[in-house]
Amino acid sequence: MTKILILGGGFGGVRCALDLDKKFKEQAQITLVDRNSYHLFLPSLYEVAAIYETNKDPFTVKMRKTVCIPYKDIFAGKKINFIQAEISAVDLKEKSVRTKGGEILSCDYLVIALGSQTADFGIPGVREYAYQFKNIDDAVAINVKIGKLIKKMDSGEKMDLLKILIGGAGFSGIEFAAEISCCVKKICRERGMRDKHAIITLIEAGPKILPMVSDSERNIISKRLTELGVVLMENSPIEEVGASFVKLKSGQILEGDMVVWTAGIKANEFLKSIAGLPVTDRGKIIVDENLLVQGWKNIFAVGDNQEFIDPKTQKPVPALAYTAVDQGKVVAGNIYNILNGKNTEAYKPYYGVWIAPVGGKFSSAHLWGGWKVSGFAGWIIRELVDLRYLVSILPFRKAIAVFRQEITMFTKND
Ligand SMILES: Cc1cc2nc3c(=O)[nH]c(=O)nc-3n(C[C@H](O)[C@H](O)[C@H](O)COP(=O)(O)OP(=O)(O)OC[C@H]3O[C@@H](n4cnc5c(N)ncnc54)[C@H](O)[C@@H]3O)c2cc1C
Repeated sequence: MTKILILGGGFGGVRCALDLDKKFKEQAQITLVDRNSYHLFLPSLYEVAAIYETNKDPFTVKMRKTVCIPYKDIFAGKKINFIQAEISAVDLKEKSVRTKGGEILSCDYLVIALGSQTADFGIPGVREYAYQFKNIDDAVAINVKIGKLIKKMDSGEKMDLLKILIGGAGFSGIEFAAEISCCVKKICRERGMRDKHAIITLIEAGPKILPMVSDSERNIISKRLTELGVVLMENSPIEEVGASFVKLKSGQILEGDMVVWTAGIKANEFLKSIAGLPVTDRGKIIVDENLLVQGWKNIFAVGDNQEFIDPKTQKPVPALAYTAVDQGKVVAGNIYNILNGKNTEAYKPYYGVWIAPVGGKFSSAHLWGGWKVSGFAGWIIRELVDLRYLVSILPFRKAIAVFRQEITMFTKND
C-alpha cells in the first residue's frame, strides 16, 4: 500500500489529509504527524489573548477548546493515522522522518506543512521580553498577564493607567489591539469608571498600516481603531524592546506594562536542518507549479513553510490560512493523479479576499469581486467564514458545537 506522510497538522496539512482520505478508498495509508494533539485555529487567537476575565482555570480550559480542535475529532471515522510527536529529523533521500521519541516513519509521498514561526527581525529584546503571538500558550500568557495587571489596579497596587505596547500593525496586531481595547472598556464599564483607563499603542514600522488594502478600507480600519482609543503610530520602526518599554529608531522611548509582538513571521527554522531541501533567501521551501519541492520527486510542500511565486504578480503568495488550505487540496489531488497515472495540476493562487475583525462585532471585509463590507455585517460574514471552515474539517454537529462555544466566549468583550 502507498504510504503518504504529512508533516504538520495546520491548515495545509489537515486539508491535504482530509482530501486524500476522500479520494483514496484502500490504495493509500495516510499518516499525519504533529507535535500537538490539536489543530490550532489561528485566526481567532486574538480573541483568546484579549477575552475578558479568563484567569479562572476551568474557563481557560474552555477558552482553549474553542481554538484548539482535537485531531481525534477531525479524523474520527477517517482512514487517517494521527501521530502526536515532535519531528526532529527528515531524510529526503530515504523519505523518512525521525521523531523526538526515536520513532522512524518512512513513506512513498511526503508533504511538508510545518508552518512558520515569529520573526524578530534581529531586534534586541523581542525574544526575551515581548509576549509572542503565535500559539495558544502565547495567547493564554498574554491573557493571564492582563488579568494580573487588572487585579493590581483593582487592589490599588497599580495606580496608573494600563499601558499595552503592540509591535506590528498587520492584521494580527490590529485585531488584538482592537479587541483588547473592547475588553478594557468592558472592565471600566463594570467598575463604573468613566475616565480613560488604558493606553493601547499599536506601533508600525511602515509608513501606513496594511499597505495591501485600499485607502478607503485603511481609513475605515484606522477610524475604528481610533474610536476604540487605540493610539496608532505609523512610521515608527522599533530599535529595541524591554520588559516594560519599546525604543523607537527615532530615539523615542515608550513605556508600558507589557509589550506584545505581532510584527510578522518567518520560515520554520527546523527546515534548515533538512539536508538537500531547496530554500529561498528567506528560508522558505522552493516549490514548482505543482507544489512539488524543487528537484525532488513525490515530496510536496504547502502553506507558510514554502514560497510560491504568483506568475501574475511575480510576488510570493501571502501566508494565509486559506491559501494553505487551497495548496493542501492541490497536493492531495496531485498525489492521487500521480498514483492513477493522470497529469498533475498546477496550483492557481487566489488571495484577493480578506476579513479584518476590528474589535467587538465589527469587521472590515474585502470579498469576492471586490465587494467591501464593514461593521456588523462584516462581523457576520467573518463568523460565517469561520463556521464554513469548521464544517469543512469536523462532523457537522461537532462544528456547530465549537462554533456556538466560540460565539458565547468571544462576545464577552462586546
Ligand atoms: C495570530 C495569527 C492570526 C492569523 N489570522 C489569520 C486570518 O484571520 N486569516 C488567514 O487567512 N490567515 C491568518 N493567519 C495566517 C494563517 O494562520 C497561516 O497562514 C496558516 O496557519 C498556515 O497554515 P500552515 O498549514 O502552513 O501552518 P500552521 O497552521 O502554522 O501549521 C503548522 C503545524 O506544524 C506543526 N509543527 C511545526 N513544527 C513541527 C515539528 N517539528 N514537529 C511536529 N509538528 C510541527 C505545528 O504544531 C502546526 O500544527 C494568522 C496567523 C497568526 C499567527
